[in-house]
Amino acid sequence: MLLLVAACATAPETGRSQLILFSEAEDQELGLTAFRQVLSEARLVRDPRVVARVRRIGWRIARVTPRTDWDWEFVVIDDDEPNAWALPGGKVGVHRGIFKVARTDGQLAAVIAHEVAHAVARHGVEKVSRELLLGLGLAALGAATGDEDLTAGAAVAGLLLVSLPFSREQEREADHIGLLYMARAGFDPREAIRLWENFRRLEGDDLPAFLSTHPPKEERLLRLRALMPRALEEYRRARIGS
Ligand SMILES: [Zn+2]
Repeated sequence: MLLLVAACATAPETGRSQLILFSEAEDQELGLTAFRQVLSEARLVRDPRVVARVRRIGWRIARVTPRTDWDWEFVVIDDDEPNAWALPGGKVGVHRGIFKVARTDGQLAAVIAHEVAHAVARHGVEKVSRELLLGLGLAALGAATGDEDLTAGAAVAGLLLVSLPFSREQEREADHIGLLYMARAGFDPREAIRLWENFRRLEGDDLPAFLSTHPPKEERLLRLRALMPRALEEYRRARIGS
């Protein structure tokens, strides 16, 4: 666990180079540890119709990613805040509050595809790697060098994983990759635009935490619109194929 090996990785679809200090096996372990931690503190929605809907949409998207080998899991958290997240290795959570803005299957697919894209592009371990390289997390990790303290090192990395925000560049990339994934899975990519418009209407109210990291700015919609012709092409192809 946490043998720090600097390695260059490449993000899917965009081809962006990434500096990641973790092996893919370590990603999985970190994600699973953080997932268990989150689940131990959260209450799950048990309504089988709600859970089945999220899983059905989640699976359709997971199937078109290059990570069909991952042990994907989709859970619904009983929380009124419109939020969603994904952890390395394919553990995805959707908060009940997201249904206020994601009103159709296509809009829910846009949320899930964005989160799936963060996971597949290894954004979580990339942001932890950056933090460790900056030295901030490294000090904490350095305090946990003994054999018996390796789990402490993993705990620090796990904490960074859930607490650090994604960079703006990672958010743009998740929008880009997510749009293509939802289209490839047979969901109308124009629903992503409608989703962000729904989010915008929330802005007047108390700003949910999700929106502080995912501002539905005009710039975001412009980028999605610029990608739309390609996404619509993928969508048409998916519909012909199905
Ligand atoms: Zn995001």
